[in-house]
Amino acid sequence: MRRTVSIFPELSGEEKASIIETRKQYARAFNMSVECLINNSSTSKRFLHKVQYERIKEECPSLPTGLIQCARDVAVEAVKTWNVKKTKLKQKKPKKAERMKRPSMKEKCTMRYDVRTVTLRGSQLTFSTCERRIKTIISIPEFFTERYPDSEGWKLKGANIGMDRKGRVFVNLIYECPDPVIEENKDGKIVGLDRGVYNIVTTSDGTHYGAKDVRRVKRKYNHVRSVLQEKGTRSAKRRLKSISGCEKRFVHDQNHCISKKLANTDEDVSIYVLEDLSSMNMKRLRGKSNKTMRKWLSNWSYSDLEEKLTYKCKRNGIRVEFVDARYTSQKCSVCKTIDKASRKGNRYTCRHCGSRMHADTNAAINIRDNYITRIQQSGQAAVNQPYGWGATGKPETEPVGKTLTSKPSGLS
Ligand SMILES: [Zn+2]
Repeated sequence: MRRTVSIFPELSGEEKASIIETRKQYARAFNMSVECLINNSSTSKRFLHKVQYERIKEECPSLPTGLIQCARDVAVEAVKTWNVKKTKLKQKKPKKAERMKRPSMKEKCTMRYDVRTVTLRGSQLTFSTCERRIKTIISIPEFFTERYPDSEGWKLKGANIGMDRKGRVFVNLIYECPDPVIEENKDGKIVGLDRGVYNIVTTSDGTHYGAKDVRRVKRKYNHVRSVLQEKGTRSAKRRLKSISGCEKRFVHDQNHCISKKLANTDEDVSIYVLEDLSSMNMKRLRGKSNKTMRKWLSNWSYSDLEEKLTYKCKRNGIRVEFVDARYTSQKCSVCKTIDKASRKGNRYTCRHCGSRMHADTNAAINIRDNYITRIQQSGQAAVNQPYGWGATGKPETEPVGKTLTSKPSGLS
């Protein structure tokens, strides 16, 4: 587990200047390392050190060795992720992959420090720069030391040091602690979650999360954005940029609140089931929504919500699982008939058996039942007494004719 705390130390003008110079040289060291790694198609720290260390030392004469090593480690990581991305893109769009920008760092970068280059003794923080080690007294907020005490194994692992837009130096101290073993709750129930347009999340029990307030704020942002886009002046563009930041923070904050509520639920839950949006996202959007709905959905970061929910649930012994998202919004959760016409707006009225409910709740129940069907079919032990099998009392089967089970003759 990792936690970060931001601190703004008070520094003199001279100290700030030396941080600015250090940043410049740090970025240069990073960029040189990246060039070297990509040109030699390597991701080895040792190789990089052998080939490039002397040259970096020449180019960045006053950068301490410890920081060259930090820049090198960050470069190796950046090239590794870049390689993975490029290989993935190559399979789909080879031309685009060739044009992919190499990782680079600007002069106004944030530097990563490790335990050798930053130390904290009591309240005295010291860290290396081009000129000398800067010593400063800091105070870590009480809530942080209370929540993450040394006695529980929290240790300083490093820091990110940089400057914000106002020119203040910030130090993000990174603390780490070995993951505690949390026993999974095995006797709770399985709850399906549908992520939608009107409500950010709906559970299969029929509870909605993030509805009223979110809709109001999103509508406001959408309106302001469209007005500003029409104007198109320079100040309008500046304003657009700043509201995009506000909007992003709003979304992240809401995601935090919703995932926290779900993870700390009073009910006895052992598994949350979500639809796997990664592959189906655009297809599903195209199918079920008009332009305005797409706008709503694309403005919400569901992957961020997914990530937050997963780590918060893990802490509470709840597992998060993903299932195929096909037909979950069109299928009736009672009789399992798939009929597109049964859904009108946010109401689902089955044309086959006549059951009515909120469309998102209906989808959430389908998601839960899809998961239960999957574990039944794969022969895993069901976690709890499954319910909601539908009218037939048997696990439903996947719709026929949609998947290709064998190769058609004539193809090789
Ligand atoms: Zn029905």
